[in-house]
Amino acid sequence: TTTGSTHEFQAEVKQVLDIVIHSLYTDREIFIRELVSNAADALEKMRLTQLTENDVFGAELPLEIHITTDETEGTLTISDHGIGMTRAELVENLGTIAHSGSKAFAAALKNAGKSGDASVIGQFGVGFYSAFMVADYVKVYTHSWRQDGEHLVWESTGTGTYSIDEAPDQVRGCKIVIKLKEDALEFCRPDRVKAILAKYSNFVSFPIQLNAERVNTVEAIWLKSKDEVTEEQYKAFYQFTAHAFDEPSYRLHFQADAPLVINALLFLPEQNMESFGMGQMEPGVGLYCKKVLIDPRPKKLLPEWMRFVRGVIDSEDLPLNISRESMQDSALVRKLGEVVTKRLLKFLDKEAQDDGKKFQEFYAKFSRFFKEGVATDFLNRDAIAKLLRFDSSLTGEGEVIGLADYVARMKEEQKAIYYQVAPSRKTIETGPYLEAFKSKGYEVLYLYEPIDEYVVNSLREFDGKPLQAVNSNEVDLGDLANEGESLSEGDTETLCGWLKDSLASGVEEVRSGKRLVNSPALAITPDGEMTPQMRQMMRAMKP
Ligand code: ADP
Ligand code: MG
Repeated sequence: TTTGSTHEFQAEVKQVLDIVIHSLYTDREIFIRELVSNAADALEKMRLTQLTENDVFGAELPLEIHITTDETEGTLTISDHGIGMTRAELVENLGTIAHSGSKAFAAALKNAGKSGDASVIGQFGVGFYSAFMVADYVKVYTHSWRQDGEHLVWESTGTGTYSIDEAPDQVRGCKIVIKLKEDALEFCRPDRVKAILAKYSNFVSFPIQLNAERVNTVEAIWLKSKDEVTEEQYKAFYQFTAHAFDEPSYRLHFQADAPLVINALLFLPEQNMESFGMGQMEPGVGLYCKKVLIDPRPKKLLPEWMRFVRGVIDSEDLPLNISRESMQDSALVRKLGEVVTKRLLKFLDKEAQDDGKKFQEFYAKFSRFFKEGVATDFLNRDAIAKLLRFDSSLTGEGEVIGLADYVARMKEEQKAIYYQVAPSRKTIETGPYLEAFKSKGYEVLYLYEPIDEYVVNSLREFDGKPLQAVNSNEVDLGDLANEGESLSEGDTETLCGWLKDSLASGVEEVRSGKRLVNSPALAITPDGEMTPQMRQMMRAMKP
């Protein structure tokens, strides 16, 4: 809604501002990181735009960030010569947010036990609003890179509305002026701002000047060797590049010379952002060639299921002038992705063996991605399958087992890897299917999620052993040590016939078998038929 130059913030923005202004009190300094990272994003977009557009407003301006402090006025100003914004973009970018962003942000503050902690904000696409933690008002002066853009100023106190007016001549980009609150005047002290920049912004790949002095060093830590990088630097790099607030669960930093020259630094997060209701994540591993960013979110570099992985892949074998479009179908890029994926899977398998407890905790949050990988990533299916973990008839409380360990403890004559799909351990252990397997001493995997059946069906076998559902027609357990009397052949036939008639169309066939010890009967899925769990899943998927 508009009255003159005044606009109402969208409801979701109001919610975010309410949280930002009233309930974030620790780590307020991160608003500087957020604004600097926005400036760096805008410069990066400008760099890419300049590769293809020759009609750019202020084409001669350097791709730099300038920060100035004014202790007399109590202001902090952050300017960049990035892409800037048009009037419509100001409304779109600084007046609205995706619905999921505000909800997910609120949920994360609660669930991650981070209430009051401002550092989470950047990950939810609402970083700009963090300025209102410290501001009486914020002014954004801007001119878009487009020649027909206007000279504009956006202004707000963060309570309900903002205004957009014409401003005197602006250079290209954004200049953000923050009038600091009485209790936030520390953020116009040059030494304080300098320390904050050193902490959070050393990885910005454009020059930053504070009061006309250069402050950042533009380090590409992924090109260094491991012993030259400290734990703190790794963590800061992860948090800056991934906009993350957690500590990475795993880190893989490696150099390779063959078949391609690769410098990679990968992180696996601690928090699964998709579980906060953020929707599907974008790929998070940037592609570089000799320190120059080619694509921050390349879609075809790593398999889609690996979208939770963060970090950097740099290869000097890539042509520096490779465009993002041609990159998408470059065989070289595909090869690069394959090599890195293999390496990461091998690394994880080793980590899982070395510290099973840690891996189990990580897996509990990220299992969805690995299952998706088994179902969709044909090339790496077996290596991903090694990382799956399950409950089973032999695991104790809080224990899980992987397929490799399952195979290692299979009985000598056991023909297959057995599993049952059901909602809970209790359903399985009180049902009739398990008894035959128990009497043989065969382990049965417990699969609780509907997607699990889809996963084992895609996998079909592991280490040469077929995967079979306990209620499948294919299960062959040989002779069971069945004691007690059995019915005569004639009586059995009569009983089967009577059952078939009584159950009518509900069953295809009734026959005697050797799969039960104590229970009288069980249902088995005929060959080529959907299992009950599959049918249930299909029904749930229907609109
Ligand atoms: P995010 O950076 O995750 O998109 P933010 O709340 O930090 O979320 O910023 C919202 C949007 O505002 C950005 O996506 C961008 O389009 C725009 N924006 C913010 N700062 C700048 C800037 N300095 N130059 C150009 N656009 C900007
Ligand atoms: Mg941002």
